[in-house]
Amino acid sequence: MPEMPEVETVRRTVAARVAGRRIEAVEVRRPKFVEPLTPEEFAQRVTGRRIAEVDRRGKYLILRLTEDGAPGGARAGSGGAKANGAGAKAKPAGEIIIHLKMAGRLLVCRTGEVLEPKLEKHTHVVFRLEGDEELRHIDLRHFGRVSYVAGARDRAGYAAHPKLKGLAALGPEPLSPDFTYEHLKAGLARRKTKIKPLLLDQSFVAGLGNIYADESLYRARIHPERRANELKPREVRALFEAIQGIIAEAIAHRGTTIATYVDGEGRRGEFAAMLLAYGRTGEKCSRCGTPIERIVLGGRSTHFCPKCQKLPGAKRRVAPRKKVARTTVRRDQKVVQ
Ligand SMILES: [Zn+2]
Repeated sequence: MPEMPEVETVRRTVAARVAGRRIEAVEVRRPKFVEPLTPEEFAQRVTGRRIAEVDRRGKYLILRLTEDGAPGGARAGSGGAKANGAGAKAKPAGEIIIHLKMAGRLLVCRTGEVLEPKLEKHTHVVFRLEGDEELRHIDLRHFGRVSYVAGARDRAGYAAHPKLKGLAALGPEPLSPDFTYEHLKAGLARRKTKIKPLLLDQSFVAGLGNIYADESLYRARIHPERRANELKPREVRALFEAIQGIIAEAIAHRGTTIATYVDGEGRRGEFAAMLLAYGRTGEKCSRCGTPIERIVLGGRSTHFCPKCQKLPGAKRRVAPRKKVARTTVRRDQKVVQ
């Protein structure tokens, strides 16, 4: 599924095309996407507004709207593209918040452009923009969500919305100034849980999904089942640097395409070739040559090098679990070959 670097890549490509433009009309083909509003209510709230900027929090894309009038945002955003108006400050008019979920994509196309039948069939929301272009939300698996909140950067408003509780609860972004070594160290010290599931907890750090959690732990040489509060200071430092490094590199390579992900211009991400642990079950570790193992942890498939990422006391504590891990690997390889 798209993780944060992929959503950030979508944000960048989409922002370059839609920021500063007015929404002329909205067509909701699948009412479920805009619940709890009806398609008419949703269209009424956003039609005639201007998209001042496209921002992102975790895996949520946020289109900040202003009253039509002067183009451009009333407030400068955190990295979102902005249109420069003639100095007049347009009044904020709420936000459209899009979650792409497992297989969603946003495409900017010409008005009325006919895409391949599969994409046409699964186009659920269409924003018609001034300048004869459309922003389309396409989702082959129909899990996506498009929400509207009246306020801007409104944590209470997000929490009150039935589809945005996850957004309200998000922790700091890995590349934001809030996510510091001290923050990570203090957060880990408070928790006895296993490190991998903790990294996936979006209230702990926002936007680190399964792929990048595995890669970060691999780079930092930390076994995914280590207890958070038992990591040594040098390991916490290595993990902090690995998380920031992996996320920045993934964004620079426009994300990872495993299955269907494409950016706002239909291009695939290039980071998949650079993954060293995720999806590499049975392949040799790039550092020591030991085959990468796969286990299931917290319901998620987890990849690591058993030699570079040691579990202290493993012999005593997890002998039976190791057996399960080997079976899983074998079963995996049969499927793949
Ligand atoms: Zn290794």
